[in-house]
Amino acid sequence: MASGPARPPLKVLLCSPRGFCAGVVRAIDSVERALTVYGPPVYVRHEIVHNRYVVESLRAKGAIFVEELSEVPATSAPVIFSAHGVPRSVPEEAQGRNLFVLDATCPLVTKVHREAEIHHRRGREVVLVGHAGHPEVIGTMGQLPAGSVSLVETLADAQAFAPRDPAQLAYVTQTTLSVDDTSAIVECLKARFPAIVGPHKEDICYATTNRQDAVKRVAPRVDAMIVVGAPNSSNSQRLKEVAERAGCRHAVLLQRAGDIDWNDFGAIGSLGITAGASAPEILVEEIIGAFAERYDVNVETVSAAEEAVFFPLPRPLREDQAAE
Ligand code: SF4
Repeated sequence: MASGPARPPLKVLLCSPRGFCAGVVRAIDSVERALTVYGPPVYVRHEIVHNRYVVESLRAKGAIFVEELSEVPATSAPVIFSAHGVPRSVPEEAQGRNLFVLDATCPLVTKVHREAEIHHRRGREVVLVGHAGHPEVIGTMGQLPAGSVSLVETLADAQAFAPRDPAQLAYVTQTTLSVDDTSAIVECLKARFPAIVGPHKEDICYATTNRQDAVKRVAPRVDAMIVVGAPNSSNSQRLKEVAERAGCRHAVLLQRAGDIDWNDFGAIGSLGITAGASAPEILVEEIIGAFAERYDVNVETVSAAEEAVFFPLPRPLREDQAAE
């Protein structure tokens, strides 16, 4: 039997940790458990996590995704808030309508909400370092009365920022930012306003930090890098930027193997792969499988940290599950 042309060798460096973080696992488990405990439908405000594959799988099991509570009819079915967190007005509206809420906001986002609240209570103007329009930023800004939080997105914003009173100033950050960009912005704020108060331990979460660290190790060693994740996933976008800055000439963000433009990957001998915190491992495997059909793939894992973080399900769900 004639054999086909030999496949070219490809070294795949797989970043570790990658993919799901504890907050995402908890959010997805909340929807799945709620479907089991209460039966479908279960309403979910906003994509539970920013990943189409995850959202479609949950939709197929009976989850109904809405952007606003006004889309939820009068119902006794649970309404789940996504991992990104919500402005205060949302639980207030839910309470006014007697909706049964399960809050899957990541505890590390809730921690930032509480910090912002405490600063505000102590009379400090709050600077939020983050990206305008991201649901987490909308949720964090919405913890305080309108106008109490000033958003700083870039170093230029930090350089131009004019506080009401430099002696009464605090900052918090979005959890999924670039560690390096944020540190430059925070340094600028501290240099300009030495009295500014910040978190004891930074707000960028462990999962964001670890995934960026792993990419920094892999990116300089490979010809190309794939970040598995969605375009609206903040931490995935940051991983692509981190790869580029760490010296990878060609970094792309992809959702599925079907999105691969093979012209992009013609003559490579090495490929780095990571996944954003909302991307399931099955999609990483799918992409490695697609490369294995065209290349003689040899996979090596490059580890930057061990993770053992676990967040329990929202309390009402735990209690109802235990009572079953
Ligand atoms: Fe929580 Fe961080 Fe995961 Fe966001 S990325 S859900 S803050 S652990």
